[in-house]
Amino acid sequence: MASRPKLVVFDMDGTLINGRLIEVVSNKYGLTEKVVGIQSDQSLQGYKKTEMIASLLKGIKPIEIVRAIDSIPIMNNADKIVTWFKRNGYVTGIITDSYTIAAEVIANKLKIDFFAANELDVEDGVLTGGIKMPLGWEKINCSCTISICKRYHLNHYSNRYGVSIEDTIAIGDTRGDICMIKQAGLGIAFMPKDQDIIKQSKNIIFNPDLNEILNYM
Ligand SMILES: [Zn+2]
Repeated sequence: MASRPKLVVFDMDGTLINGRLIEVVSNKYGLTEKVVGIQSDQSLQGYKKTEMIASLLKGIKPIEIVRAIDSIPIMNNADKIVTWFKRNGYVTGIITDSYTIAAEVIANKLKIDFFAANELDVEDGVLTGGIKMPLGWEKINCSCTISICKRYHLNHYSNRYGVSIEDTIAIGDTRGDICMIKQAGLGIAFMPKDQDIIKQSKNIIFNPDLNEILNYM
């Protein structure tokens, strides 16, 4: 059988890594209360929260973000499942509402082909508090309104790699992943963190083991 191009995209925090970068960083810099306050404010759109959290990081050196992401363990069998996908003809990617400097570390560790994330502004060797967000929901009318619409980017990368949408797989753990999980040929909620993603996902993995994705292949 001639193989058609295929694509698998992963969320990062809570999916490819067993932890959340912003929790580690905010703990280290005494920002936890402020970050949690922003995250739990129901009146704010998702992308606004991302902007406000980035502004709290002003003055931190980018290397500290790299150290923080390095301190978070990789999810069980992440390397194994990425290798399996690559061997079976999949392009692999990370789509995360975290930061490019962190996603790059994880992409390099796991030999993942590409990543899409928010870019923290750096000047004179420190974070300025500014951030460039890919967005995308405003172009396709997606209700997610987060800093990086995962559905928009799933479509974008499937076009770029010539993959039809039924040959895509998306895996994530939170509300922000729902739009891509529903769009992908195969969408999987992995260790779901909120009721919305549980309600809206047909395929759910409740064990912290990425190898269980193979049960759906
Ligand atoms: Zn979206």
